[in-house]
Amino acid sequence: PANDVGSDAMTVAYIGLGANLGDARQTLKDAVVCLAQQRTISILGKSSLYRTAPFEAGGDDYYNCVVKLDTTLSARELLALCQKIEHHFGRERPYRNAPRTLDLDILLFGTDSIDEPDLIVPHPRLTDRAFALVPLVEIEPALDIPARGRADAFLAAVADQRVEKVQTCQCPMQKALAAGEDADKTRCR
Ligand code: ADP
Ligand code: MG
Repeated sequence: PANDVGSDAMTVAYIGLGANLGDARQTLKDAVVCLAQQRTISILGKSSLYRTAPFEAGGDDYYNCVVKLDTTLSARELLALCQKIEHHFGRERPYRNAPRTLDLDILLFGTDSIDEPDLIVPHPRLTDRAFALVPLVEIEPALDIPARGRADAFLAAVADQRVEKVQTCQCPMQKALAAGEDADKTRCR
């Protein structure tokens, strides 16, 4: 397929979003909108927003979420798009695990297993990082990770990492959910 247009085949993919510089919560909201506005992407679901401890790094807490999407892009095209979006949000890479305005990682791309120098899918650190695993399992509890098995089986091993759900939605449905009403029928973030 030519440049960024992709083919007609759709692939379900999961992207992990993270930010800990500037207005990180607003950045994540804007980044999800940015993904949704791509003609090559349809958003299928979004996790809650999480506040998480920096992993093997100093600095402020992170905000993280995971988005499920359908795309006509190839994995490599999706990576290029993610990097383009990061760049537009002012991402710089001064050193490893440096604080970042926006990080977009491809967690899963269909059932593909990719092992190339600049693209590894499923994401190599997905199953040992609570900030990616917890929101992923929230939107897809029975998810199977290619070559690794059920995602929720890895939760116990990351239970010591601090992740805390952040309420962002102020709508009445959210309040009803918090009060325990209709918990099975509705989802609101
Ligand atoms: P971090 O590991 O903290 O996310 P970066 O965002 O700077 O660090 O990514 C470093 C490199 O990781 C990128 O240049 C990219 O090519 C590579 N990479 C490998 N696999 C993936 C993936 N599944 N999703 C995103 N980037 C990936
Ligand atoms: Mg990254």
